[in-house]
Amino acid sequence: MIAIVIHGGAGKIALEDRVPYLAGLDRARDVGYRVLADGGTAVAAILAAVTTMEDDPAAFNAGTGGSPNRDGVVECDAAIMSADGTSGAVAAVTRAKNPILLADKVRVASPHALIVGPGADALVEDPIDNAELLTPRTLRALERWREADHLGPKGSATVGAVALDDQGMLAAATSTGGMLGKWPGRVGDAPLIGAGTYAARHVGVSCTGDGEAFIRAVTAKGLADRLQTGVELEAAVRLALDEVAAQNANGGLIVLTADGRIASGFNARDMAYAWRTAAGADACVSAEPGVRSFG
Ligand code: ASP
Repeated sequence: MIAIVIHGGAGKIALEDRVPYLAGLDRARDVGYRVLADGGTAVAAILAAVTTMEDDPAAFNAGTGGSPNRDGVVECDAAIMSADGTSGAVAAVTRAKNPILLADKVRVASPHALIVGPGADALVEDPIDNAELLTPRTLRALERWREADHLGPKGSATVGAVALDDQGMLAAATSTGGMLGKWPGRVGDAPLIGAGTYAARHVGVSCTGDGEAFIRAVTAKGLADRLQTGVELEAAVRLALDEVAAQNANGGLIVLTADGRIASGFNARDMAYAWRTAAGADACVSAEPGVRSFG
């Protein structure tokens, strides 16, 4: 049994952005699924799906098109974890075109779990100028944010993926520019294993939303632990979101279990996600907040 579920963030997705979002989700999901269908690993599938979204400046807040911080610098966070127990992550990295590949480099080629800032940038094989990550869309967003900076940092359009390969192995990944207008050096939940990203033998999770709340709730690991104690899938997602909502925060998450069940849930206004299994596929940009399961 193979399966993939991806997300393109939770938050407010403008009407005019929904077409590029949907096209981007479809493309990334199918790129990832193709890897699985060809016998590739869950890690290879999520790397393919996430890099596809990082390279898509029309919609997503990751890699090119990542949200700039309040100084106009794009500082990216990313993490990947395999159910085999290996993980890698980078935070506040400014010179990587594909932060998720750098996170995977930390996983396979370093003795560490998380490398940040200049240390992470130094690992990039082909460093790019940070300005190359900025796009007309994100520059406009920064301008609007600066005009109304009383709003505080703002998140959305983070990307994530969870896959199950034909060996029964799960893996999860998340990549983001973080919050628009964040303080320089701020790190969100995405690169923190157990908060925004987690994979174990029984489940993989990727989160999106107000990162501070996901960090404090240790959302992804909490969800995995609840499933292990016998809490039903949709109920576990609901409880995870309740802990975020209890902090007056918003977000969403995707989940894939080792027996091929998929769930998504969010309490933000909109969420973008897509999934594919041998039995079918779907993609959704915006829906009623709540919890759904598929597959
Ligand atoms: N969770 C991300 C962060 O806090 C932002 C998002 O998902 O929109 O950095």
